[in-house]
Amino acid sequence: MSGERYPVAEELIVLRCVKCHIQFGIPVAAYHALKRSSDRFCCPFEHGQSFAPGETDEEKIARLEKRIEDRDESIAMLRRRIAARDGVITKLRKRIGDG
Ligand SMILES: [Zn+2]
Repeated sequence: MSGERYPVAEELIVLRCVKCHIQFGIPVAAYHALKRSSDRFCCPFEHGQSFAPGETDEEKIARLEKRIEDRDESIAMLRRRIAARDGVITKLRKRIGDG
């Protein structure tokens, strides 16, 4: 083996082996395919790896969009409460002003 260097024209995602901790790169498309599947793959020293089952990117986006929606609803509710309180304060000030 000569240890020659090659320019990489393709974008890679760098992973770290869970066993030997070597870093290695895989093409972005392969990374996403592996994340979506439960397929096993190996590091350069043939240690088996797989991504833990979890959220897909689509599920994560949906979850975060729901959080934004919930937060927007909370903000709208707080604005309604503030507006109602401002209305009460205005009425009381008027009443006090009228004597
Ligand atoms: Zn390894």
